[in-house]
Amino acid sequence: MHKILVANRGEIALRVMRTAKAMGISTVAVYSEVDRNAPHVRFADEAVLLGPAPSSESYLVMDKVIEAALSTGADGIHPGYGFLSENSAFANKVTAAGITFIGPGQRAIETMGSKLAAKEAVKAYDIPMVPGIDEAITDPDKAKVIAQDIGYPILIKASAGGGGKGMRVVDSADVLEEQMQRAISEAESAFGDGSVFIEKYIASPRHIEIQVLADRHGNVVHLFERECSIQRRHQKVVEEAPSAVLTPELRERMGDAAIKVAQSCDYEGAGTVEFLLDENNNFYFLEMNTRLQVEHPVTELITDVDLVAEQIKVARGEKLSFTQDDLNIKGHAVELRIYAEDPLNDFLPSIGNLETYIRPQGEGVRLDDGYDEGMDIPIYYDPMIAKLVTYADTRPAAIQKMKKAIADYKIVGLQTTLPFGKFVMENEHFIKGKFDTHFVKNYYSPEALLEGQKAEEILAAEIALKYYQEQKSKLSVPTEGSDEWLQSRI
Ligand code: ADP
Repeated sequence: MHKILVANRGEIALRVMRTAKAMGISTVAVYSEVDRNAPHVRFADEAVLLGPAPSSESYLVMDKVIEAALSTGADGIHPGYGFLSENSAFANKVTAAGITFIGPGQRAIETMGSKLAAKEAVKAYDIPMVPGIDEAITDPDKAKVIAQDIGYPILIKASAGGGGKGMRVVDSADVLEEQMQRAISEAESAFGDGSVFIEKYIASPRHIEIQVLADRHGNVVHLFERECSIQRRHQKVVEEAPSAVLTPELRERMGDAAIKVAQSCDYEGAGTVEFLLDENNNFYFLEMNTRLQVEHPVTELITDVDLVAEQIKVARGEKLSFTQDDLNIKGHAVELRIYAEDPLNDFLPSIGNLETYIRPQGEGVRLDDGYDEGMDIPIYYDPMIAKLVTYADTRPAAIQKMKKAIADYKIVGLQTTLPFGKFVMENEHFIKGKFDTHFVKNYYSPEALLEGQKAEEILAAEIALKYYQEQKSKLSVPTEGSDEWLQSRI
């Protein structure tokens, strides 16, 4: 592979290109009209305009992306995450055009792209699954019988779901039918597939996922877990590795289960197997994501493995250069996703201009971002500005570094999740590692955030006052003719 086109934008396009360059591989960026001056375009060796800003007219147009690769002579396409990364038709088209798709094969993408097909595929492998049904359901009466069997609360989920969309918690039989209809129409409009199914709603789960790597020669390893329980709208905001609660024995069992999931679909490349872990340390398979995950840096930091480099090597047909026994966890990493969202207003998008943008720096601080000062955050795409990741020997030290990095990170012009990140890092439950996916609901409120800020302002004012009082005598001007005055004249 000599030249890779990255079919993506923002931080992930830059992150992939960095590794490609380090491996001596040329890079091609694609961009929409609104991204003309984006850092990923400037960083690449070559860049091709795809079309207008909406992704349906640019980043999602398969033929345009493939044409860009052919016209620049790229022999590999890396899809990043989102956009076309889990689209098996795209992977096929890329391969048919004689270009290497840096990702798994069609079967793996298709199987794992449907939550129901995924459950079906892993059945034979003895993987624990959330109690529920493993087929699409449309009949409300049948749903009531099943829900009764499983026991309320239950969760209605879209088979084609992603990004936390198409999920509905149902507490009792009398609202089941109505919620089911809503879920079906939501799934139809969001994913073009109205298949929904029912799962037991696990009361206090943690979201623990396992990173896997597989080559074409039958080798599959896992690179331990990522803890992703701090979520809003079923979507992750803070991640860390390793998890504060996994024992080596549980880690091994979950790792083995993840390897089996990868084997069930002949997986190739980097993938993530997601599980829920309940209060009694039972874990259940949720789904597999057949791409590089947003939160992959925390794994890279604790294992010292460059996941993008491994993806490229596997796509080139190389064998994994390490075995499970070669892999060890070293230190601790924490990631905060910096979204252009207002934590004081229900995490709604806060699109605008990065009037001031000062990056934190220092040892153990990794910032994967895709914007520069003065740039607008476009409304057309995911509102993530950056991923701030810190690494240290221990969890408390990594948290401490994150606090400092958040304080050093200056963003003016729009609201971001930075203050929320600070809130999390200072929260006693997070510090103790005692939390689940309901962290935001249980502990967070805009008032709590404001209170923290107010307490800090008061503390700052008190320190300033004390300093002023201490300095006051030194600052007073000596009266004319006094000894002090005479001294100062000499
Ligand atoms: P998506 O593909 O939309 O991301 P997932 O199945 O990965 O959906 O679930 C996203 C999040 O939703 C999980 O991390 C968890 O917080 C919550 N969730 C999913 N299934 C369940 C369940 N059965 N019980 C409780 N929470 C769940």
